[in-house]
Amino acid sequence: MDKRIPFIAGNWKMFKTIKEAAEFAEEFKKIERKDGVRTAVCAPFTQLQMLKEAFKGTDIGVGAQNVHFEDEGAFTGEVSLPMLKELELDYCIIGHSERRQYFNETDETVNRKLKKILNESAITPILCVGEDLEQRENGCEQDIVAAQLKADLDGLTAEQAAKTVIAYEPIWAIGTGKTATPDQAEEMCGFIRRTISAIFGGETGETIIIQYGGSVKPENAAEIMKKEDIDGALVGGASLIPEKFAGILNF
Ligand code: PGA
Repeated sequence: MDKRIPFIAGNWKMFKTIKEAAEFAEEFKKIERKDGVRTAVCAPFTQLQMLKEAFKGTDIGVGAQNVHFEDEGAFTGEVSLPMLKELELDYCIIGHSERRQYFNETDETVNRKLKKILNESAITPILCVGEDLEQRENGCEQDIVAAQLKADLDGLTAEQAAKTVIAYEPIWAIGTGKTATPDQAEEMCGFIRRTISAIFGGETGETIIIQYGGSVKPENAAEIMKKEDIDGALVGGASLIPEKFAGILNF
């Protein structure tokens, strides 16, 4: 079986103007990075066209943070898949906990968006799952994540599931400076892999890329990346600063 290639992506959330993003790109391109780590930056819509251009000829991918499941229509403020395809994007984050919490994203809409992307484009979706603090304290985090996976991936073929990147992001560790311990992260990523195997077969479970996300920084990246079932990271805050993001990539 092929070894899974590490994949570390930045999630810029609602940060940076086009000018600030262009400055990041210039600096980031100059920093030396080790081979064998796939990377991308998932930025606000306004920056995507510029970033695609700025990273042309490099190995740095560019992704969006959301997409609507319809091609077009009266959906004020939304952006569709044909619009993203025109930019030749590489990735799109789907179902981030902030979208589930603040923008009414549900497992049903996540599922429709995933199917739209996988059926109609070459964009790789990064599907976020994870429990909140109360759910972890109640000891039901695995039930929560299993239910999310089952609903979010419903109707996908094994091949489509294998193309999807899963980001395990415990909500209590996002932006809080409180990282899940590498053992906690590994335990859940292993559980996710076994759940994927149970739904789609062992080969899909073995090949699917699973990231950990939540307060990843240069200081803890190596320990997290050492874990067997963790293939990468989805990085928020630390991905906004070129040296820090490169430090994580050089774990
Ligand atoms: P953080 O965010 O690294 O700032 O905790 C991670 C995320 O929300 O993807």
